[in-house]
Amino acid sequence: MVMNGLKRVPLYVQILMGMGVGIAIGLLALGNGLQQFVLDWVKPFGTIFMKLLKLIAMPLVLASLITGVVSLKDITRLSRMGGKTLLIYIVTTVIAISVGLAVVNIIRPGAFLSQSTRDQLKEQYASDLQEKLSKATETIHDAGPLKFLENMVPENIVAAASDTRMMLQVIFFAVLLGIALVLLPTEKSSPMIGFFSSLNEAILKMVDMIMWFAPVGVMALIAGVMVDVAGKNPETVWQVLYSLLMYSLTVMIGLLLMLVLVYPSMIWILAKRFSPLRFFKAISPAQLMAFSTSSSAATLPVTIERVEEHLGVSKEVSGFVLPLGATINMDGTSLYQAVATVFIAQAYGIDLNFSQQLTVILTATLASIGSAAVPGAGLVMLIIVLNSVGLDPAGIALVMAPDRLLDMMRTVVNVTSDCAVATIVASSENGRIEMKE
Ligand code: ASP
Repeated sequence: MVMNGLKRVPLYVQILMGMGVGIAIGLLALGNGLQQFVLDWVKPFGTIFMKLLKLIAMPLVLASLITGVVSLKDITRLSRMGGKTLLIYIVTTVIAISVGLAVVNIIRPGAFLSQSTRDQLKEQYASDLQEKLSKATETIHDAGPLKFLENMVPENIVAAASDTRMMLQVIFFAVLLGIALVLLPTEKSSPMIGFFSSLNEAILKMVDMIMWFAPVGVMALIAGVMVDVAGKNPETVWQVLYSLLMYSLTVMIGLLLMLVLVYPSMIWILAKRFSPLRFFKAISPAQLMAFSTSSSAATLPVTIERVEEHLGVSKEVSGFVLPLGATINMDGTSLYQAVATVFIAQAYGIDLNFSQQLTVILTATLASIGSAAVPGAGLVMLIIVLNSVGLDPAGIALVMAPDRLLDMMRTVVNVTSDCAVATIVASSENGRIEMKE
């Protein structure tokens, strides 16, 4: 009975309920000093949920990309679709950065930060700063202009598949294998194609199974994040967050503009008047997962399932566009990096001129492509953008406090953008796409 009743509640409502309970548990724990209880008894369920999603992400990328490439049947179609996808990804990223630059230049949140708060933030986040700086140095160390190409090619597929950060290498391998299968005579390729297409179906079934656990998993993730962020002294955290309110609002306004203006108009205009409402209805569980996990990679299985089975995008398009998008298309991240850079400059009383802001567009595009689809990656790559306009990388100490919350929000935009591009590419490749319930 209860099971049947629950089945009738739409998934996004179930997840929202999980979030609500998670927020309530988080608040109760913070109000009554029960942080350790949440860490010991609630958070592990969130960790298990994240692990389950990550567990299926890599095999799904392999299976869906290989079946996607194979079903394209000819290589010219693959390269045409690939070119189109990359172009739209870059265009949406540049639009996102421009929106970010527009709002941050209009609102000027940096002007609201007093010198004393600035010094206090730098002192408070000094140790976190060291950790992020050394991570960034690792990433940028010895990086020649062609480093990104070098990094894309795996030398060991087992090693590559063992790390979510190496998703691009797995994508490379899958596309190569898919092309090889297309080039082989059918009798040689069909056992392998059959295997991967069956693996693809089985993993999508696993997504359904794991999503049964979503309300509990999301509840635990949200309660865990609240306790983690607030730490032992919730009062000081509120103070710090309050001092960065204008900055956080600026990022949020930019992200919101992307969600309510840019993507709906894009799919309306470019996907043959596809209804934005139906679009959001179909992908909302993926957006909520993005918010709860702060990771496009962990959300990918849900994104693929929603786009294929509920938005009606064909496998050949979604299998190719979505894994690529989760790794390189991060509109939310790039928008945030642009706002954060200008905010930090404003806080130091530096005005970035027009050509510096153009540099921000270029480097934030590259930095968002280079950001891994995991929590907090965008903050580390922000250091590269700061460097490019001559700002002190230590400035990231100013934006660390609300980062977890903003990470959750920018990941929603990252995932939404991938879904929007998949819809547009599908409609241009296959004509009107058929919506499923
Ligand atoms: N968490 C983001 C994502 O996975 C990346 C970031 O901006 O930190 O999409």
